[in-house]
Amino acid sequence: MTTLLLRNADVIATFDDADSALNNASIFVRDNVIEQIGPAVALPQTADATIDARGLILIPGLVNTHHHFYQTLTRNVPGTQDVALFPWLVRLYPIWARLTPDAIRVASALAMAELMRSGCTTASDHTYIWPNGARLDDQLEAAAEMGIRFHASRGSMSVGQSQGGLPPDSCVEDEAAIMRDSQRVIERYHDAARFAMTRIVLAPCSPFSVSAELMRESLALARISGVHVHTHLAETLDEERYCLERYNMRPVELAESLGWVGDDVWHAHMVHPNAAEITRLGITRTGVAHCPTSNMRLGSGIAPVRALARAGARVGLGVDGSASNDSSDMRDEVRQAMLLHRVHEGPEAMSAHAALRMAIRGGASVLGRDDIGVLAPGMAADIVGYRLDALGLAGGAVHDPLASLVFCKPGNVDVSIINGRVRIADGAFVDVDLPRLIERHNRIARALVRDELR
Ligand SMILES: [Zn+2]
Repeated sequence: MTTLLLRNADVIATFDDADSALNNASIFVRDNVIEQIGPAVALPQTADATIDARGLILIPGLVNTHHHFYQTLTRNVPGTQDVALFPWLVRLYPIWARLTPDAIRVASALAMAELMRSGCTTASDHTYIWPNGARLDDQLEAAAEMGIRFHASRGSMSVGQSQGGLPPDSCVEDEAAIMRDSQRVIERYHDAARFAMTRIVLAPCSPFSVSAELMRESLALARISGVHVHTHLAETLDEERYCLERYNMRPVELAESLGWVGDDVWHAHMVHPNAAEITRLGITRTGVAHCPTSNMRLGSGIAPVRALARAGARVGLGVDGSASNDSSDMRDEVRQAMLLHRVHEGPEAMSAHAALRMAIRGGASVLGRDDIGVLAPGMAADIVGYRLDALGLAGGAVHDPLASLVFCKPGNVDVSIINGRVRIADGAFVDVDLPRLIERHNRIARALVRDELR
């Protein structure tokens, strides 16, 4: 057993049900779990390891509910910068078809590093293309090295262009092989226990790249295995037209007809549900990953997440893939969410606190976790701290430290603890060679896209 003390934080925002905030307070961690939290004078003064948290605000780690880590290799590719989702995908599919196990491993590590430095401690990823021998195992190796809490999707695509889908046939897999591999990764890696660092998710990509049968089979396997399912849904009007033409149903109707609603299901985007669909998604407590930056970047629209949350849906935030954001910065996503909904519905639409809560408690709920998202005894020790004397917070944090994290521009986290392990201290990773990782990543990215331009 080891203990860790984060001592004398200026502010601790716990995100408990009462939204308690403590000044000059400490957190005492035993192994991977928070044991005590309270005024610094009332807590133990020593531990096996101690972090001086003076000058910091501590909050629960942010939870990212939608990403495509491999896309860090194809950010900002010319030809994808100013187009909508379908042409964007068509341009990128052939590039992604050349991904390798090493490319997936390195891109995943890089995306995790960027997420962690922005304050994220739990991330989901949705990789749906597995060319040239790449496997989910490659991402899981990277996550273990980086020390992030990881919900890994065994994503899939099975309907290529020759069958009426959007991706080229070279990017899709055989459905029987997808199901066999899904079963394999669940048996090998899924951890249902409290404080699990690895959970497996089954995630057929989208209505225009998989069959209804694969959606049904994936859901059936997930439900007998106790794992969650995830897909893209109601992201664009192009997708809506595709579903109406092919299935004579709107995207949400299609998902409902396949059983894809409920508290073990979450959909990325949900930009275009109608009022009746919002009500039904709420009643079924279906989850939604809100990705405001990606939706703005691709011009997809504004997801009605306030209405969805009011109806009862579980709503969290996601940065989405790095080819449509083009960053993995969870702080930015919180700020974008707050600002976007104000454009739409006025300045009272979303407070800084509500946007942060969506990224923390909302994200935990979307991923089906009751052991993260609150700083309290018995919860996982996933804690991040930002310096309140950062340049971008000057003149803002002094008035309202928590809201300054959203309204102003905090720096990277000064400290990140994930499952009780110190991952970032004094603003730097304790054991990740970031320049080397970036150099390797850029070498792969250059080769991947240069080949495409030939
Ligand atoms: Zn996505």
